[in-house]
Formats: sequence, C-alpha cells, structure tokens
Amino acid sequence: MAELGVLSDAAVLIGGDGRIAAVGPLEDVRRSAGAANVVEVSGVLFPGFVDCHTHAIFGAPRLADHERRARGETYQAIAAAGGGILSSVRDVRERDGSALLEATRRRLRVMLAHGTTTVEVKSGYGLATEAELKQLEVARAVANGRPDVIATFLGAHEVPEEVRSNRDAYVDAVIQEMLPAVRRQNVARFCDVFCEPGVFTTAQARRVLESARALGFGLKLHADELEPSGGAELAAALGAVSADHLAAISESGIRALAASETVAVLLPGTMLFLGRPAQAPARKLIDDGAAVALATDFNPGSSPGLSLPLVAMLGVSQLRMRPAEAIAAITVNAAAAVGEAGTRGQIAPGFRADLTLVAARDWRELPYWYGVNLVRGVWIGGAACHSLEGPLDLTD
Ligand SMILES: [Zn+2]
Repeated sequence: MAELGVLSDAAVLIGGDGRIAAVGPLEDVRRSAGAANVVEVSGVLFPGFVDCHTHAIFGAPRLADHERRARGETYQAIAAAGGGILSSVRDVRERDGSALLEATRRRLRVMLAHGTTTVEVKSGYGLATEAELKQLEVARAVANGRPDVIATFLGAHEVPEEVRSNRDAYVDAVIQEMLPAVRRQNVARFCDVFCEPGVFTTAQARRVLESARALGFGLKLHADELEPSGGAELAAALGAVSADHLAAISESGIRALAASETVAVLLPGTMLFLGRPAQAPARKLIDDGAAVALATDFNPGSSPGLSLPLVAMLGVSQLRMRPAEAIAAITVNAAAAVGEAGTRGQIAPGFRADLTLVAARDWRELPYWYGVNLVRGVWIGGAACHSLEGPLDLTD
C-alpha cells in the first residue's frame, strides 16, 4: 500500500471501449497512439475515487439530532425524541420514490464533483420489503447517471418499530421475504448486516449472510464498530469482500482479516462527526498485512460528508496512515471492497478509464489541503462528466 507509481509528463491512452489502452511517458504513448484526440490537462491525475461504503439514499438531513448530540444527549434520548435511524426509516417509507430519486441524484452529482467515480450505496432505511425495494430501485435508476452505482441490500440495518420486541422474527423476514424479493428484482449485488451488540448478533448476521450467499449475493458486514463481537472474524470466515467500521476490532479480528482477502473498510469521518475519540487501528491492520480501504459512510445520522479527499486527509491525520496508503485506500483497495479490483481503481492498461484530475503539483497535496475541493475534472469510462475551470493553486 505504501508504494504508488508516480509519472511526470505522462499520458493516458483511452481506447474506444472506454478502457485504458496505455499509460506512460508522453512521447512513448504519443508514438503508439496514432491519430488520437488529445486532451491536455495539468495537475495530478488520479484513478477515479471509489466510495465503497455509503447510505446515500435518504430523505431529510437529521439536523435536530446533530444539535441534540452537541447538547450532550445520548443516542437513546435522541431516538426517544423521535430522531435517530428510525426517523430516516419513517421518512423513506413515506417519501415518494421519484422524490427520493431526485434527492439522491443531486447528492451523487456532488460526490462526482469531489472526484468519486464509483459509489456503493446501501438500502436499510426501509426495513420492510416494499420500502427496501423502493430504495434499491432508486439505486438502479441513478446508476444510469454518474457516478457509477453499486447497490447493497441492508435490510438488516436495524429492527423496525413495529417488530421491536422480536428481533429473530425480523431476521426471519429478511431471510424468507426480503432477500428473495431483492434477488427476483435483481437490484442489489451485495448483502450487508449491521452486526453489533444490541442490533444484530453475530449468529443473526451469519444466518442472513449465509442465506444471501446461497442466493448469489456478495457479502459485506458492518462489524465491531463500538464493541468487539467477532464481526471481523465472521466476515473473514464467510469470504466477505469487506468488513466495515472496525473501531473496536479485537486482536483475533485483526489476525483474521490479515489472513483473508476481506478488505478492512475504515470510516474515520463517522467517528469525527460523532465526536468519538476511538478510531479503527489502521496502522496495526496495515502492518499486520490486512488490506485497508477508506470510505465516507455518507448518511444523514452519523456522517453527512461526501468528500473522499477529506476522508484521505483523516486517514493520515487520525489513523496515522502514510499519504500513499490513504490514496490506495480510496482507489485500488476501495475497488477491491466492491469486488472491482480488476476493473477500477488503477490507471493501468485494461482498467476502465475512470480518472480524477486534481489541482496540485504533488500528489501528496490530495490528503493534505482540506476544506477545499481541488477536483478539476472527472472522466468515467473515458467520457468527460465533470469539469471546473479557473485557477486553484495553494502551493508556494
Ligand atoms: Zn454504514
């Protein structure tokens, strides 16, 4: 993770199929290109950023929760006052699908403007078959636009109010009703579970994920966010593409991820926004050999942020990652966390031509300046889909 290939005066040759045909010194690429259409850019060209963990399909922001938390109210008090995740569930259930689509489309366009070319989005604010499908239909509809969307079914995000007293019955409904319906509509590629004491146990998470695997879903897991409960070990044992959060991962969880192909997805913006001092042990995960990715966790309750460059900065400043590790964590490793390691996240022949141009002279500026959007151009599959003119130069 700590080694990036960095070229100066370089060129990228993009084929008619939207894939990268060649990359290298300008003169070499020019010689092999023949009659190519030339676009000159200055700055640093990165692989398009991959946001591998978001809950981007929601209705209203949760502004009152934010103020209550600042006043020192607990999560339970906020929920009792009508806030918390179940307020987003009520909102999504009541909201018309087209209104949800329009809001999501606008938010994804802002992500694109911050350099994100692929974004994973989860359901989980429906918590009933129809409302979960409504969210996943939005994911499918926005996938026609930009950035590229990869959908995850997260019916086991929480237990809805109407079945609060019987968590196992809700898990049964997820397995027997929702998963087959999502499969029939073919609207999600991955299945995820919020595995945390008080939400879903590792035994319940295992039941859901094994059923999902049997139906052909790839697996992801919200694991060990607040307490170590064996979530990381479960994700590794089941061959999940990722185990996410991990602020409270145990020693054995770290060993399990290091020995597996499961990517550790860390979400430093969430802990920062919630004002919690704990952060995932990124340094130990990396040093022990786990693959680490970073994501925004974009959602209205605990992380209303959608800038991956900002998250990369937090990776360096809060998680003690090297700048190169932080870049790998929002590109190549994030692509692996959504099952696209062979197609996205690298500027290399055969990879899709997803590129993000940053106004910088040194690549290390990306996880350094913060509170400013340095992205000046975005290409997906070789097609220009965002550009911003004008000088922006913060170096001396
Ligand atoms: Zn999440």
